[in-house]
Amino acid sequence: MQEKILITGAGGQLGFVLTLKLQEKFGVDHVIATDLYSKVGFSGHFETLDATDFQKLESIVIKHNITQIYHLAAILSASGEKTPTMTWDLNMKTLINVLEVSRIHEVNKVFFPSSIAVFGANALKDNTAQDQFLLPSTIYGVSKAAGENWANYYHQKYRLDVRSLRYPGVIGHESLPGGGTTDYAVDIFHKAIDNKPFECFLSASTLLPMIYMDDAIRATIELMDAPKENITIRSSYNLAGMSFNPNQLFLRIRNTYPEFKINYKPDFRQQIADTWPNSIDDSKAANDWGWKPKYDLEAMTESMIKNLKLKQ
Ligand code: NAD
Repeated sequence: MQEKILITGAGGQLGFVLTLKLQEKFGVDHVIATDLYSKVGFSGHFETLDATDFQKLESIVIKHNITQIYHLAAILSASGEKTPTMTWDLNMKTLINVLEVSRIHEVNKVFFPSSIAVFGANALKDNTAQDQFLLPSTIYGVSKAAGENWANYYHQKYRLDVRSLRYPGVIGHESLPGGGTTDYAVDIFHKAIDNKPFECFLSASTLLPMIYMDDAIRATIELMDAPKENITIRSSYNLAGMSFNPNQLFLRIRNTYPEFKINYKPDFRQQIADTWPNSIDDSKAANDWGWKPKYDLEAMTESMIKNLKLKQ
């Protein structure tokens, strides 16, 4: 059967790269990219869609005979703390719309990204477990934890094939981040390449789980391609790439840019980062569908610098 793919939030940091990858995999004509506003940079089919609008979402699903939905639209952790009720409304309404439209129109597969924000301050910080009790500290984390439960519920009750990953902080050269607590790890590269000093909004020793964009996208595709019977987690899979703190990243970048300077000015995002894990146990993803990250800090830094330099 020829798949027909719908992506929400396609203009975002991950959506942009995932759209290109899905176009490559399924063919440009079989991917419908959507976002709130029309974005430049896509070839292929783009439609404006506010994913809180069920009728518009449903009309697109019907019009294009959609068979898979990748639901990326959301308000992220740092932005979310500024507008908690709006973040809850948007993150929940869009997800429930996607689950409902998928149930009603028998969409084959749905992808919904969760986050390491689901764990919260009480969780064990090292190698945080898949089945760690979730008590998130941000409204973003609360919305993702609730979303995981909704996903699991739709699978249990309606057998909807919904799959999910708890992404760590995503680092990529293709797009800019959109209001998360790990955005510094992308911004720092842009400053280094421009020979400018970097002011970091997290402290030097804030250790966080991160993943390179190539790995995050590959994990998404591998999860969605895995045989249904292999998927034993219907809330969301823990996913790991690497872990580092701002000082370790700074020192690694300094290998290429010895003059590069950093100063630390932690802001409200420090409090969010302090509630997140240091590292993640993703052995369930490894056992169930063979997950293995390719990029560590060194390989990621090398690739970021090489690719950003090409764009200069
Ligand atoms: P982003 O902020 O860069 O992009 C989100 C996109 O959603 C934006 O283009 C925005 O215009 C769109 N959007 C917002 N409200 C919308 C609405 N009502 N209808 C339609 N589109 C809307 O986010 P991202 O970094 O690309 O993240 C994508 C997904 O992955 C999100 O669900 C996020 O929670 C999750 N995630 C991201 C990271 C990360 O480090 N980037 C980590 C963990 C989880």
